[in-house]
Amino acid sequence: MRLQEKACLITGAGSGMGKTAARMFAAEGAKVAVLEIDETSGKETAEEIREAGGSAEYFACDVSKEESVKEAVEKAYDSFGPPEVLYNNAGIMPAEDHSVIDTDEAVWDRVFSINVKGIYFMCKYVIPQMAQRQRGSIINIASFVASMGCSVPQDAYTASKGAVISLTKSLAIQFRPKGIRSNAICPGPIETPLMTEWLLKDEQARQLRLSRQPSGRFGRAEDIVHCAVYLASDEADWTNGAIIQIDGGITSNYF
Ligand code: NAD
Repeated sequence: MRLQEKACLITGAGSGMGKTAARMFAAEGAKVAVLEIDETSGKETAEEIREAGGSAEYFACDVSKEESVKEAVEKAYDSFGPPEVLYNNAGIMPAEDHSVIDTDEAVWDRVFSINVKGIYFMCKYVIPQMAQRQRGSIINIASFVASMGCSVPQDAYTASKGAVISLTKSLAIQFRPKGIRSNAICPGPIETPLMTEWLLKDEQARQLRLSRQPSGRFGRAEDIVHCAVYLASDEADWTNGAIIQIDGGITSNYF
């Protein structure tokens, strides 16, 4: 029970790594606020946790819309009290995001509005609440692609995740003196709906990535969330500004 009684806000918790995080955080005793744009999957996540004896509630939230974020954060505060953990997990990787030379402006803007502006809005409303008690942990999900080029480009996504890393460092420096830690996890390719809907249907992209993967398999959501549980817990008191690659070793592989 490493997260006993901690109020944890998890964005995009209706699917993939966010959903696994909601389940694993609740199993560690957390009170989980499921912030999700998709009502059906968000409600399902919260209900599954409650049925398993955990504490969770669904709050409708589009992280790219300031009013929606403000409302969800206020409602979560009313239900669970001051948040101790903000897990900025929501992100998109649309198939239309390709090279800069053939990606539409609207696609670029959509990716940035969720992957980057979403974190800005969440931090804008959650950090002042955390600061009241001088404690908190912000976990931002970036990606291994932020530190690598890619022969199958997804330029808006890659640039957005670079921005997540930069923002994480700035938050870590600004807010640690106020008791709030900020860290980022850079997952390698993980088998979640986000990836299976795109990459695993593209046999060439799949084989390229597997051939460079020293662990011989794609990641599982749990591989990432074990690290997030640590970052959320008091064990990570001196872990701040860390950018943690969890990728099976793919980014270390000079091919
Ligand atoms: P997923 O598609 O399975 O889940 C993402 C969730 O975010 C969905 O439930 C979706 O409804 C929600 N969401 C989308 N837009 C939203 C919005 N505007 N407001 C609130 N919620 C919204 O994806 P996943 O693979 O679990 O990815 C989670 C995070 O990990 C993302 O930030 C992604 O970029 C990152 N990531 C994924 C991989 C991978 O290989 N799967 C690798 C590196 C990083």
